Amino acid sequence: MKPRKTLIAANWKMYKTVAEAVAFVQSMQDEVGSLDDREVVIAPPYTLLPAVRTAMTRAGFKLAAQNCHWEDQGAYTGEISCAMLQDVGCDGVIIGHSERRHIFGETDAWIQKKLNAAAKWGLMPIVCVGERLQERENGQTFPVVENQLKVALAELAPQPARQLVIAYEPVWAIGTGKTATPGQAQEVHGFIREKLVACFDKDVASSIRILYGGSVKPDNVDALMAEPDIDGLLVGGASLEVASFKRIVQYR
Ligand code: PEP
Repeated sequence: MKPRKTLIAANWKMYKTVAEAVAFVQSMQDEVGSLDDREVVIAPPYTLLPAVRTAMTRAGFKLAAQNCHWEDQGAYTGEISCAMLQDVGCDGVIIGHSERRHIFGETDAWIQKKLNAAAKWGLMPIVCVGERLQERENGQTFPVVENQLKVALAELAPQPARQLVIAYEPVWAIGTGKTATPGQAQEVHGFIREKLVACFDKDVASSIRILYGGSVKPDNVDALMAEPDIDGLLVGGASLEVASFKRIVQYR
């Protein structure tokens, strides 16, 4: 039995229509079985949030957005605020995904502001950190992850930090089919846990869930979840089909 409730999150990126999303959620809820010791988060595109919220009728399923703006409202064309996400029934929000950082130029300073906004609106933040291939090859994995955490968490108070989720997603493993070995992932998760103890305290740090993300598939999920500091998973490609996502949620 894991010390923290397992969280398996589906990041659907820019995929699915309303009809496909609703059919997926209905099938998952019917087929996945017991969720006593785990919860499932679905993060669909913004357009699908209300329909997915309505389709979610089972306890243990939660809804998250893939991004947010830090202001509550304003002249920010194309952006969505945490206030708006809360209004449509979101439970959480993914912040600082590597595709946001590296394709859309999000900075650590923005990620800090987004995290503060999510905490203000009571949304469970899933903050993504992770090194690029060259950084790993240069032995910079720990300093890169440490700096991402330090900036993101600088203004977060211990009480909202209890809701925080960190996703360690090595950039070289996202959508590439290359998964970090369970040992590589555990090493960084253990390091993140140490940094969380330093930022908050042992009690708060031990309540924060640390997810692994990067080419998680049905055939590597059991080995990853066997590691002590891997509290769950953030799944992209393999979360788009019910059969593969269901198998991942049913890890042993
Ligand atoms: C992700 O989008 O966060 C992710 C980990 O993608 P994939 O599982 O496809 O590598």
